[in-house]
Formats: sequence, C-alpha cells, structure tokens
Amino acid sequence: MAQETKGAAVNGKAYTIVDHTFDVVVVGAGGAGLRATVGCSQAGLRTACISKVFPTRSHTVAAQGGISASLGNMGPDDWRWHMYDTVKGSDWLGDQDSIEYLCRNAPDAVYELEHWGVPFSRTDEGKIYQRPFGGMTTDYGKGTAQRTCAAADRTGHAILHTLYGQAVRNNTNFFIEYFALDLMMNEEGRCVGVVALDQTTGEIHRFRAKMTILATGGYGRAYFSATSAHTCTGDGNAMVLRAGLPLQDMEFVQFHPTGIYGAGCLITEGARGEGGYVTNSEGERFMERYAPSAKDLASRDVVSRAMTMEIRAGRGVGRNKDHIYLHLDHLDPKILHERLPGISESAKIFAGVDVTKEPIPVLPTVHYNMGGIPTNYHGEVLTLKDGNPDTVVPGLMALGEAACVSVHGANRLGSNSLIDLVVFGRAAGLRCAEILTPNDKHADLPKNADELALSRLDRFRFAKGGTPTAQLRLEMQKTMQNNCAVFRTGEVLAEGKDLIHKVWSGAGDIKVTDRSLIWNTDLLETLEFDNLIGQAVVTMEGALNRQESRGAHAREDFPNRDDTTWMKHTLAWLDDHSHKTAIDYRPVHTYTMSNEIQYIEPKARVY
Ligand SMILES: Cc1cc2nc3c(=O)[nH]c(=O)nc-3n(C[C@H](O)[C@H](O)[C@H](O)COP(=O)(O)OP(=O)(O)OC[C@H]3O[C@@H](n4cnc5c(N)ncnc54)[C@H](O)[C@@H]3O)c2cc1C
Repeated sequence: MAQETKGAAVNGKAYTIVDHTFDVVVVGAGGAGLRATVGCSQAGLRTACISKVFPTRSHTVAAQGGISASLGNMGPDDWRWHMYDTVKGSDWLGDQDSIEYLCRNAPDAVYELEHWGVPFSRTDEGKIYQRPFGGMTTDYGKGTAQRTCAAADRTGHAILHTLYGQAVRNNTNFFIEYFALDLMMNEEGRCVGVVALDQTTGEIHRFRAKMTILATGGYGRAYFSATSAHTCTGDGNAMVLRAGLPLQDMEFVQFHPTGIYGAGCLITEGARGEGGYVTNSEGERFMERYAPSAKDLASRDVVSRAMTMEIRAGRGVGRNKDHIYLHLDHLDPKILHERLPGISESAKIFAGVDVTKEPIPVLPTVHYNMGGIPTNYHGEVLTLKDGNPDTVVPGLMALGEAACVSVHGANRLGSNSLIDLVVFGRAAGLRCAEILTPNDKHADLPKNADELALSRLDRFRFAKGGTPTAQLRLEMQKTMQNNCAVFRTGEVLAEGKDLIHKVWSGAGDIKVTDRSLIWNTDLLETLEFDNLIGQAVVTMEGALNRQESRGAHAREDFPNRDDTTWMKHTLAWLDDHSHKTAIDYRPVHTYTMSNEIQYIEPKARVY
C-alpha cells in the first residue's frame, strides 16, 4: 500500500492517494458482488470487495419472495420448463444461451446456498419450501409451477447474511463505506482498476486489479416512486458510460404491480403466490379478464398494465380512484404469520392495514432494471463497437442488476433476479480462476489513471451554482415517472426527452454546499445524481426510439411486438461533456448453449 499526496486536477487542492494491488476488485457487496467475491477468494486470488454501504445493507437484503430453481420439491419440475418460462417472460428479448446457463445451473446454486447456511422455509418432509410465482409454469406453460424457494418473505436477508459470512470466512479484504468514483482504463481499452473515496477519512484509494467486477445494482432511484433503496443509483452503469462503453436495453424498466400506495414499499408477488388477488372499485377480480389462465399470477408487466387500465377506466379504489386493492384477508392467518410475516408488518406500518381483515392499497411501482452493462454468460463486459459481437473489454466484468446478460430481456420474472446473482456471481468466480494467475504481473497503471475520477470530484466539490442537487433530482424523478412509465407514447416520450435533457443541462448550475470529503452526504448525493441523470437520458431515448411494444415497454402508438424490425438489443452511448448520445442495436442471440434444448421460437405471449 503506497501513499502519496497529489494536487488535484482543477483547483490545486491536495488529495491523499492510497494505492492497493489485488488480483480482483469487486465493486458491490450485494448478492452478486458477494457471490463473486467468495468464488474469487476460494480460487486463491487476492480479492478486494468495495461497498458504499455495509455489505448486509445492500438492496439484496430487502428481497422478499424468493429465488427460483427447478428443484421439483413440490411436484415435477425441469430446468427446460424454467427456461421456457424465462424466454417467454423476456418477451423473446433475452439471449437464449445465457438463459439456458441460468436455468441449468440454478438448482446447484440453490443447494450451495443451503449448504452454506441459508435458513430456507421447509416442507413437512424437510425439503426446501417452494411457492408459485408469476409466469412460472410446468410443461411449457400447461400447469402452475412451485419453483420459488423461500425463506418466509425475507429470502434476500437470509441469502445476503449467509454470503457475507462466507466472504469473511474466505478472508476477503473488505473496504466498507468506500464510494467508487470511476474506472481506471488504459490506452488499449483495458480496465486496470477503480478509484474510490473512503467516506470515513476523505482519502482517495486507487485499486489496481487484473479484473474489476461491477456489481453495483440497479438505478430505480431515477424514478420518483420505487421499491428500491435510496442507494440504488446505478453507479457502475454510469462509470461504464463515462468509460465510453455502451449500456444495453435501458428502456426496459419493470413496474411491480404491488407497491404500497403512497409509500412505494414492496408487497412481494409471493403474496399472490400464496393466494392473494387484486380487485377494482367494483370488487371485481379483474385479472380473470386480462389473463384468463394465470390470472393474478400473470407476468408483472401484464398485471401492472391491467391495473393501470382499470384505474384509467375509472375503476380505481380510494378517494381519488387512483389505486387498487390487494386482498389477503381471505387467507388463513396462520399461513400469513408463517409465510408472509414481513409484509404483514409493512402493510401495518406503511398503510395502517391489518392484512387479516382489510385489503392493502397498492399501485404499480418501479422495481427492477432489465437493462444494464452488456456481458456474456461468464460476466465479461462486451465492447460492441468493432463489429464483433463477442469481443470483451479486458479486465472488466459486470454482474447482478447492474449487468444485462441478458436473461431477463424485456421483462424479468419474479424470483429470477436472486438466482441470476448467484449463478452468474459463481460463473464470474470460475472465469477469474480460469484466466487469472495469482501473483502474475499487472498491466502498468497509466500516468493519469485517476484523472477522470478526480476531475469529476473537483467539479462537484467546488460547484458554486444556484440549484440544489435535491431540486434537480426531483425534476429528474418526476420526469421519468410522468414520461417514461407503464404506458408510453411517442409524444409523451419526445416531451420527456426534452425535459430530461433540460434537467441534465441544469446540472451545470448545480450547488454543493459543503466541500469536505468526509461524510459529505451533499457531495455523495450529487455524485449519485450525476450517475442517475445519464441513465435517465439513455432510458428515455431508448424508449422513444423503440417503436413497438415488448415486455415492460408498452407503446400505445405501437401496441404490437414487431419481431421483424425490433427483435434486437438497444445499445446506448453517452458523452458526459458534449451531452451527445448515440444509439445502435445488436441482434438477440437466437441460439442455445448446448444441444440439450432447441432455440425457443417466438410466439404470442399470453398468460
Ligand atoms: C424490495 C425488493 C424486493 C425484491 N424481491 C426479490 C425477490 O424476492 N426475488 C428476486 O429474485 N428478486 C427480488 N428483487 C430484486 C433483487 O433483489 C435485486 O435485483 C438484487 O438484489 C440486486 O442485487 P445486486 O447484487 O445486483 O445489487 P444490490 O444488492 O443492490 O447491491 C449493490 C451493491 O453495490 C454497492 N455499490 C453501489 N454503488 C457503489 C459505489 N459507487 N461504490 C461502492 N459500492 C457501491 C452497494 O453498496 C451494494 O453493496 C427485489 C428487489 C427489491 C427492491
């Protein structure tokens, strides 16, 4: 560890710089980051894990309903059925080789978690309990699958704490409450590490690594009402954009049907899995009309749209007829207590409702980002600029909600994210073990390795404009919520594009009141806002460009899926300085990984 003091690029203010060298540096200590960390550490690679919050406070801790894998504990199941459901759920935008990798490896990944100590709920025979979830079927759509493994309604909590314990056991070097600022890239386009700010001391740390793994989570906070934590600002995605690399499929934003009205807190889909259902102001179980066979357990985009249409037709509930009811009051209180204790508590606290007696007021709420950093199924980031779709950025991987592998395509099925974290987290560890040799020589650190990070830090630390960050953030969140929501039209999106660019230009007048580098929440929130706004811009532009409806992207002016023109991934680049954006496309992988399953041909997506 070397220490030096260095004049910063712009204002001559000195930064204390501390250097580290590791084989692997993982940014993020959610489920994806921790699983990769454990794998790399076990492979004998010197591994660092950086997190802006304490690891067990990562958003994964809030995951409720469960983790999917075709264990077949509650009835017959098969990974091929899981694959079929995931392809259909993705509305044929998912890459089928990656989806095959996910579903084949899911059972082993869950058993591994079990052996590491995750306290899953149990069946009477002592097997892992599995509940039904939306879009999960048996026999290629014929029956309802019980595929979602659960630890009551606190599955993410159980998994994250277990993974943290395993990482500690494997001697990972944690750097906790370090805020990663930017990647260090060399002239050949190789990633050689990452620069971070230690929030407790104000020191700048340069982590030099042969592999940098971004597992920084989603960017739900670009929207006004989201189920995700305030820390979900997609920092890794923004670092990738600033490094001149593209993000993929950003227009696909999942709205969860059942966020608590007003508060945005999630009521898990597991509530409908256990028998809950939604009603309109006439007391009608309207999902029977929209999805005659799956009903309340249709895919999330389908239920969210149906709820929005009911509200628009004047059949919303409440004084303003602007939300919907979720009923659990017909269920046995014993089941609620055993299997859904957490959401019973949330409903009480955030809606003042006793779920055994009254319905919960709910509204579709931003929940998950299908888009992110494009990777292959080893977790390696794709360059996607030289015409070869498989070329990877040397030294860089991405995982979890930050990544777009793409297994979720245009719409993620519930419980398919937690399994994505551990399957691809494990895959990344295996890949690192294969391509890196401990104690091997590192690529040279370029001369100005930290310049991008420090000049940006200076720009905001000394920002003397007139507009507080909180005001710009609110404008961004409202714009995204109003102009890029469940239903979209060209007109509303074009207006949204103007508005979001206005917010972005407005950031030139940003005001940061405190220059300190230590526990400066104003500065950190400004860095997070700056990360969010770029992602908001490419989300809006991707949505405006895509003239079809697919999965979570529902265009009223183009109501049908158009496989001839649009069965392709969106790629978006952005220039932080000129505020120019560029959009291109690449084909969806229409092949599988092995010959054990054939490519699943597109067809109409009905539930
Ligand atoms: C309320 C809720 C319930 C959910 N329930 C389920 C469910 O039941 N089943 C399911 O499959 N999915 C569920 N999901 C989705 C799933 O939980 C998430 O997609 C997943 O947990 C994301 O994990 P991750 O490891 O990618 O990122 P996260 O868990 O979000 O972790 C991100 C990590 O990156 C770190 N980080 C970010 N930026 C920086 C930075 N600049 N510097 C340093 N560190 C940084 C953070 O500190 C954190 O450690 C749910 C999501 C929510 C919001």
